[in-house]
Amino acid sequence: MILMNGQELKKKKLQQLKEKVQKLDTIPGLCVINVNTNLESEIYTRNKKALATSLGYHFENSILCGDINEELLIQTIKNFNNDDRIDGIIIDMPLPEHLDIKKVLNSIDSSKDIDGVTYNNIGKLVSKEPCLIPSTPKAIIDLLDYYNIPLRGENVVIIGRSLIVGKPIAHILINRDATITLCHSKTLNLEYYTRNADIIIVAVGKKDFLKSNMISSGAVVIDVGINSINDKIYGDVDFNDVSKKVGYITPVPGGIGPLTVYELMENTYNAHVLRLGKK
Ligand code: NAD
Repeated sequence: MILMNGQELKKKKLQQLKEKVQKLDTIPGLCVINVNTNLESEIYTRNKKALATSLGYHFENSILCGDINEELLIQTIKNFNNDDRIDGIIIDMPLPEHLDIKKVLNSIDSSKDIDGVTYNNIGKLVSKEPCLIPSTPKAIIDLLDYYNIPLRGENVVIIGRSLIVGKPIAHILINRDATITLCHSKTLNLEYYTRNADIIIVAVGKKDFLKSNMISSGAVVIDVGINSINDKIYGDVDFNDVSKKVGYITPVPGGIGPLTVYELMENTYNAHVLRLGKK
């Protein structure tokens, strides 16, 4: 069994990115917009800020009241769209229910949409055109590539169909010639699919969801889940049980998680360079 070490890959990629940033004579910038912040989102924003400033990026954080009206929020986003110091805009999720999420997200300039949430970037991903790819799917593909896991023609089962993980990783893998089955809460006989999979990607949000009797020997298992229970983080995979049977597996913590925040920094750099090239 090989443990897929996201922390190790993050360290290597961060070093390479630092060297590229140092060669610039300009400063990439990103901003995080928090609506109705809580302790969890404050921690995530702090992590983003720490990584961004360690790279020498310009960083801004706009913290808005939970009862903000849609027009004002969209105006805030537009201000960042027009701000030359900002290359990447992240809107912390979830948003309060009175806001039209799709309208809000699509008001981000797609060239600054470093989490790949606008229709423009989603459409380009589906059409296999260059685009900003959402951070978690980007982390998954980078880790698979780092461990030289073959993708072409492989049978990949994805469990979870969210817009930030399941759907985009399905398209990324289709673009890499894998054969995809996208399973979700209404899938009947899930084991039928997972037992025939070369690679299983689990993004469900339930501790110990994937068990060893659901997989074939030697499978590659990517655990995206983050389940916080009594101040401890667990994935969606019953690690002690499943790890005895796999070829490769990601730990939680230390697998996909650490890479995800890094990918936002890489996307910010890419957005910055693209924007400069356009000038
Ligand atoms: P979500 O929470 O929006 O939805 C859960 C998905 O699981 C749905 O598509 C649903 O159909 C599926 N599901 C639920 N029960 C199921 C069942 N019994 N059988 C099959 N499918 C089932 O999805 P999300 O936002 O992708 O989050 C999933 C997990 O991934 C969460 O734990 C989240 O915290 C984690 N996550 C981690 C990262 C990271 O950086 N590591 C990033 C995003 C999400």
